[in-house]
Amino acid sequence: LAKDRGKNNFQYYNAKLNKYITRKIIIENALRKAMENEELYLVYQPKIDLHTREMRGMEALLRWESSELGTISPAEFIPIAEETGQIIAIGKWVLKTACKRNKEWQQKGLPFQCVSVNVSVRQFQHSDFVNTVEGILHETGLNPRFLELEITESIMQNINESTTVLKGLRELGVKTSIDDFGTGYSSLHILRELPIDTIKIDKSFIDDVADSAKRSMVRTIIDLGLNLNLSVVAEGIENEQQAKILSRYKCRFGQGYLFSRPVKEDEFEKLLHTQS
Ligand code: C2E
Ligand code: MG
Ligand code: MG
Ligand code: MG
Repeated sequence: LAKDRGKNNFQYYNAKLNKYITRKIIIENALRKAMENEELYLVYQPKIDLHTREMRGMEALLRWESSELGTISPAEFIPIAEETGQIIAIGKWVLKTACKRNKEWQQKGLPFQCVSVNVSVRQFQHSDFVNTVEGILHETGLNPRFLELEITESIMQNINESTTVLKGLRELGVKTSIDDFGTGYSSLHILRELPIDTIKIDKSFIDDVADSAKRSMVRTIIDLGLNLNLSVVAEGIENEQQAKILSRYKCRFGQGYLFSRPVKEDEFEKLLHTQS
């Protein structure tokens, strides 16, 4: 009967919801101990000049090896950390660790590279954000031009506040990038006004590049970025065909498994050695 099915459906969703909430609480509690237990670490993925195939930067990506829960993907724990506010402390740790490591590599005589760090909206909109970045640069001694912050288009929901923060970062000499570009809220008009340096085209568009019927969108985004004098990066390049087409369309930079997966710091250090 339809009535029974309705009831079963309700129980089904209720059970699913309970499972989801339970998982969330478990992760929240484990995450609270993760930093002191040193379960968090960063991996680094090179950014490549698509024309010369040389390294032109790196992105720091967070990893969590929980003693209780095993490996948890950032796609799962970062949204939870954003919801609980834990992202503020975690984000600070990420920023400081990435700056410190980059400075150490420079001091070892390795080629200087800019490190890109992901920043969640909640962190970006936190009242103290620009001061925090300034403090970390001061503390680690990293020259601001070797730091780039990646934020998503969702900052555009609070356009005035976000513009103020972006200006503050630019005054510090730090670069900014719009991550996962094309998936969010940007209006082209606003994009022109924003003091940013880079757009990073979302992987979903890069996946389409191999399909001749779908690739025009990518071309449009690249041209838009170039017209606004922005640096254009493609994320998630997995094969040579994609790299060639993007390069032909004048997209200067790319990241993806074709060049390298994100790797642990000792392995990344070896990659840096091959660049010198
Ligand atoms: P994102 O910033 O857009 O990072 C790109 C994601 O794509 C990374 O996943 C990276 O490992 C993956 N990737 C890179 N190249 C390829 C490729 O060729 N193919 C495929 N299939 N994937 C590729 P990851 O490391 O799992 O991170 C997922 C997301 O979690 C990131 O997306 C970012 O939004 C967030 N995230 C990671 N670390 C941090 C962090 O320290 N702070 C914040 N706030 N968010 C972070
Ligand atoms: Mg990113
Ligand atoms: Mg991205
Ligand atoms: Mg992405």
